[in-house]
Amino acid sequence: MRATEFLLTTEKETPADAVVVSHQLMMRSGMIRKLAAGLYTWMPVGLRTLRKVEAIVREEMNKAGAQEVLMPAVQPAELWEETGRWFQYGGELLRVKDRHNRDFCIGPTHEEVITDLARNNISSYRQLPLNLYQIQTKFRDETRPRFGVMRAREFIMKDAYSFHTSEESLQQTYDKMHAAYTAIFNRLGLDFRPVLADTGSIGGAKSHEFHVLASSGEDDIAFSTDSDYAANVELAEAVAPAGERPAATAVLTKVSTPAATSIDDVAAFFKVDASQVLKAIVVRGAHTDEKAEGEPAPVVLFLRGDHELNEIKAEKIPGVAAPLQFASDAEIEAIGGVTGFVGPQGLQAKCYVDRSAAHMADFICGANDTDAHFSGFNWERDAALPEVRDLRNVVAGDPSPCGKGTLEIKRGIEVGHIFQLGTKYSESMNATVLDENGKTRTMIMGCYGIGVSRVVAAAIEQNHDDNGIIWPDAIAPFQVGIVPMGYQKSEAVTKATDELYEQLTAAGFEVYLDDRDKKTSPGVKFADMELIGIPHRVVVSDRGLEAGKLEYAARRDGVKHEIALADIVAHLQ
Ligand code: ATP
Ligand code: MG
Ligand code: MG
Ligand code: MG
Repeated sequence: MRATEFLLTTEKETPADAVVVSHQLMMRSGMIRKLAAGLYTWMPVGLRTLRKVEAIVREEMNKAGAQEVLMPAVQPAELWEETGRWFQYGGELLRVKDRHNRDFCIGPTHEEVITDLARNNISSYRQLPLNLYQIQTKFRDETRPRFGVMRAREFIMKDAYSFHTSEESLQQTYDKMHAAYTAIFNRLGLDFRPVLADTGSIGGAKSHEFHVLASSGEDDIAFSTDSDYAANVELAEAVAPAGERPAATAVLTKVSTPAATSIDDVAAFFKVDASQVLKAIVVRGAHTDEKAEGEPAPVVLFLRGDHELNEIKAEKIPGVAAPLQFASDAEIEAIGGVTGFVGPQGLQAKCYVDRSAAHMADFICGANDTDAHFSGFNWERDAALPEVRDLRNVVAGDPSPCGKGTLEIKRGIEVGHIFQLGTKYSESMNATVLDENGKTRTMIMGCYGIGVSRVVAAAIEQNHDDNGIIWPDAIAPFQVGIVPMGYQKSEAVTKATDELYEQLTAAGFEVYLDDRDKKTSPGVKFADMELIGIPHRVVVSDRGLEAGKLEYAARRDGVKHEIALADIVAHLQ
């Protein structure tokens, strides 16, 4: 690309509303332009990087066996009414009406649309497991859009959704996605960490976020100094906002004989009003009918502690038996009793247990095959227990939930988030398949997001200096910049420059040739190239050419080297 043919609109001044370095540099380097709050145009130089991030994400998703689709951004309200999220989602959901006065929203996420797609197109267990993804524009009417594309209202997300007939299969795909995300963020050259996360308004049981570590991050991450434990401290905020501690509670039992029963039976057994039941879960194995005949199936019953929490439907427990029996306190103690807790968003015992959050997440998903048990939890009574932790209030140096080392708190930017959704969407939308015995089964789901446009900003937060961006090669808009001293003035420089440009382009490099005339000083050209972050710079000059040499400098260290003309391609490779 020649500068004289390329729309590059760099700026010296930092815009007043840009407070984080990535926003400042994206504006100054002309990568983005603001249309309105949280709405940005990607300019040519910015789009080149965005497309590279997309390409890496796409390659790794394809490699991990996911298939690409493209869903509409506009979604009919009916689907969101089916899951109840039309009423729960709040102000972030941009609702619009069409000319027939029908309600739609601009998709902030696509669980409803994909579940609708799955129920209409998947009918047999033979079609599963399946993982579908798209790279697409989302809209969230953020309360405080800020930091440029980092927290925009319109942004690009890679979102994937997987479908399964068993928890084991979900776990396999979840692990594959965890590995694919690790490969993606490694290829992007980012310093990142996977951390245990809250499932937020998406819902579900188990989730990890991928955080790029940067002081401008909006999330606090608690790390153990002595183990791999890492968790987003917002885990606890979602569980129990100050002053709204639910009084209830998870109750435990063993269920003894196999026979189908309804949620009413289970509620009656637990001696609670069925309307109080938030969720009932068979802990070991997704379904009790997968278990050996007559073997007791542990059931966890989650109760409403707050009557506004009407968004979580009680789940049916297929094959749960009657008569049911409580385990005794002694039995609970004998196996090292786990204390569980449910918050405003449902299944959130994981942050308040006496083991690591990871253990609890496994436990809830049935991945842990020890006979673990919940006991009734009461915030008022139990908050002081040593095993109950409010992650929100942790400070560096606190012991950690995993039992090893102390906690370190660092700031992180959430660039990816993976969830085990379970049947939250497939159940309310009736997305089922026939299993190998011709029996109807509700599909089990996972979902996996990457903030593609946010990744670009996060990469800049980690890769910059006072002069501008320092792109990792993989996502640089151009890999090589050529600055000719006296282009179109010196015949030798012009000829050597044009040849070099052709040669590097033919060798597969994306080259930015600053061919602007003498009205633009070399100083300005060097400054632009540093600002937009081109990793490799080559200077062509009469003096150098006389000695058969070019001047090379890497953006990262700026050290100048003399390279023989004949060696430059090899040097750059
Ligand atoms: P946050 O906590 O930052 O608001 P989120 O948890 O609401 O993010 P998810 O629903 O998990 O976001 O969406 C998947 C990914 O989309 C996030 O991990 C993040 O990288 C990206 N993302 C979410 N909101 C925005 C936004 N407003 N602008 C840019 N990217 C976003
Ligand atoms: Mg959000
Ligand atoms: Mg988040
Ligand atoms: Mg998230």
